[in-house]
Amino acid sequence: MCGPAHKQEDDENNNMNTIEIDGSTGEGGGQILRTSLALAMCTGRPLAMHHIRAKRRKPGLMRQHLTCVQAAVAICGGKVEGAEPGSLALCFEPGAVRAGDYNFNIGSAGSCTLVLQTVLPALMLADGPSRVSLTGGTHNPMAPPYHFIERSFAPLLRRLGVGIELSLRRHGFYPAGGGEMSAHIQPAANGLTPFDLTERGTRLQAYAECLAPALPRSVTERELAVLADKLGWPREQLLTVSARQNEGPGNALMATLVHEHVTEVATVFGEKGISAERVANDLVKAVRQHQISDAALGPHLADQWMLPLALAVSTRGGTARFSCTELTQHASTNLDVIERFLPVHVDVEPRPEGTKISLARLPLP
Ligand code: ATP
Repeated sequence: MCGPAHKQEDDENNNMNTIEIDGSTGEGGGQILRTSLALAMCTGRPLAMHHIRAKRRKPGLMRQHLTCVQAAVAICGGKVEGAEPGSLALCFEPGAVRAGDYNFNIGSAGSCTLVLQTVLPALMLADGPSRVSLTGGTHNPMAPPYHFIERSFAPLLRRLGVGIELSLRRHGFYPAGGGEMSAHIQPAANGLTPFDLTERGTRLQAYAECLAPALPRSVTERELAVLADKLGWPREQLLTVSARQNEGPGNALMATLVHEHVTEVATVFGEKGISAERVANDLVKAVRQHQISDAALGPHLADQWMLPLALAVSTRGGTARFSCTELTQHASTNLDVIERFLPVHVDVEPRPEGTKISLARLPLP
């Protein structure tokens, strides 16, 4: 382990390949931790992280991040120091990843999907199928909503060769949480196969849905009406999602844009004090923003796709590319972490029609 008390023991074990990550760099948020945990497990490299979430109002490990650490320890039997609420530093020594049946309860409205994304890369490479059940938030602001994972992210993993099936048993919104979802993961039989994703292709379908359990029906009607009016979408493109009344209160307005090569799900969350019209207008802006460009991936999918793609490139070799509407600070920070763990070189080429990212495996020493 990386604490001073263990230094001598480590030197004796010749365990010199710990990767040190400074969580205050770039975006300085939770994704640096999740990507580091995921890649420590995939590569077997110990991780020493400090300044965890240093750029957040409340730095350190919050409940969701702590569950990510505990989930990582559970799936690989690793050793950890510093896994406490509010901790600013962490040492993690991963063990061998074990496929299996896992349950993770965040115990708050912390995001289930972010915990899933921490363990998914390692379970995609495990020696058998796994089932991960999660309890917490399934539709959180500032995290991928369940429907985004199901429609946008999971289909790309399937193209890498991974079998992944998701199910949502109960919606969970902030602040009550209590959502339940699960993922069944079947590692790729012949290893991950990287592919290029530089165009989204023709639009095949577009529809809007409003989730508003425990809120007056008029909220759903107003949000969908404003959205349909401003985007010129007919009634058939407006779907009603059934969430049980006891799953709220919560409000998520979603637009799903199905293209030939990729599906984008844009989501805006309603909250107390924000009008239904404003929620709808914010989603209209997000959809229009997406339509300005022909690039394959929107900003969120771009920062989430680079990790599985980099893993595929690092195991299979060669180069794989994708284009995105915008390279956010989240995404460029994530690329920096990926380059610390994996033998990949990242090339970023800003272009008027969208940023092009290439990931190439470095020659092995
Ligand atoms: P903190 O910023 O408090 O550390 P965090 O641990 O939740 O928070 P971030 O580093 O902010 O993590 O990462 C959030 C992740 O959620 C990013 O991958 C981002 O792309 C994704 N995300 C946020 N909003 C959406 C959305 N509407 N749709 C899809 N993905 C989203």
